[in-house]
Amino acid sequence: MFFVVIPTTDAQTPAPGVIAFTNARVIDGTGGPAIEQATIIVRNGKIDAVGPSASVTAPAGAMVVNLSGKTVMPGLINSHAHIDPDLSVKQPPNRDEMIQRLKTYATYGVTSVMTLGFETYDEADGFYLRDMQRLNIGPIVTDAPRLYASGRPILFRPGPTGNETPDDARIDVQRHVPLRADYIKLHLDGVPADLKPDVIAAAIDEAHKHGMQTAIHIVYLRDAKLAIERGVDVIAHSVRDMDIDAATIAEMKRRNVALIPTLVRDRSVFIYENLPDFFKDPFFLRGLPVYKHEVDLLSDPARQQRMRTDAATQDSKRQLAQGIKNLKMLSDAGIAIAMGSDSSSIPDRNLGRWAGYNEHIELELMVSAGLTPMQALTAATSTAARVMKIDGVGTLQAGKWADLVVLNANPLTDIKNTRQIDSVYIGGRKVNMAAAGGTN
Ligand SMILES: [Zn+2]
Repeated sequence: MFFVVIPTTDAQTPAPGVIAFTNARVIDGTGGPAIEQATIIVRNGKIDAVGPSASVTAPAGAMVVNLSGKTVMPGLINSHAHIDPDLSVKQPPNRDEMIQRLKTYATYGVTSVMTLGFETYDEADGFYLRDMQRLNIGPIVTDAPRLYASGRPILFRPGPTGNETPDDARIDVQRHVPLRADYIKLHLDGVPADLKPDVIAAAIDEAHKHGMQTAIHIVYLRDAKLAIERGVDVIAHSVRDMDIDAATIAEMKRRNVALIPTLVRDRSVFIYENLPDFFKDPFFLRGLPVYKHEVDLLSDPARQQRMRTDAATQDSKRQLAQGIKNLKMLSDAGIAIAMGSDSSSIPDRNLGRWAGYNEHIELELMVSAGLTPMQALTAATSTAARVMKIDGVGTLQAGKWADLVVLNANPLTDIKNTRQIDSVYIGGRKVNMAAAGGTN
């Protein structure tokens, strides 16, 4: 077989030349205090130097961008994203809509996305787009986040795509090797037939054998424990049925298992029982070219009424509260928390998971759980990069890509200020905010 070597560090076309961003408050993503009156020097898309203007000065000939009064932070990394097209609106080809979803993320300051699971109908398109981006070819080399991808989830449920034996699971994971999946997504539905410890263990072991990490969809503590004990790397949703016990927290710590809470995912299950106020928020409306169809469906009073009486929908309120409680416990215990929203997952089935907008709601929910704004921002930047193995981004430090969000207000005083976006840069290149307006 013939393999093309695809450089993963050069995922976006960097801006040529030298740029000096001056007079900004810089939140560098490490969790350290903000630097006031700072200068960031960017050379060919990468950060050369960051520091107080007294010690870092713009070299002669640099393009100077004066950010007086602004706050700069690393671009958001969504550790649990999706980009699946809405088949109820448009039949394949899928790529245009996937591109539009990516570009929408970028207009909201999300500069890297890890898609945790494609669908059968779009997996090939997803990997194609990722590979084209890394080869620096095609429509998502600018104005789109860096795209990282896992393939179809590894399922354990009975059925044609489920895995019944350890060998089945190994073969399913091996399928991802030639695709060069950036992560392996496992999916436990919570039904008793799913709980096959040796099959789950084989999937995780096979992934690790090929140098790939694993993230698992769970709802219940029992399932999380099973996966943690079998070596899973990331729990991709909150535990939503009960408090996480001390022994499980200790085991997560010992094994270095991270959590992606996806609180906004649970909120999205019930919030549309009424017409939400944010449907009129200009920041939300920025994504309308992608959101429109779902907004129309969710604005139907009959649908809202059904949600008010649907038991599963209502139970999601309890699940969200439980997830919030568990997030705070895990954060306090020092477990790595990576921000992820589960946005854009199968839009014709899971309505209202807005690519771009919901990452900001997730940050707000993380703060409502008791995390500080700095902890939430760190989860969405450096910790997300570390947990999801996304190199070269996540902090504003020398040697990293200049993926940054310029804000008109300070998110450390109010996390909602992440929505005060002035501009977004990926690899030092300013994102064209109209780029996502496109094809619908
Ligand atoms: Zn998901």
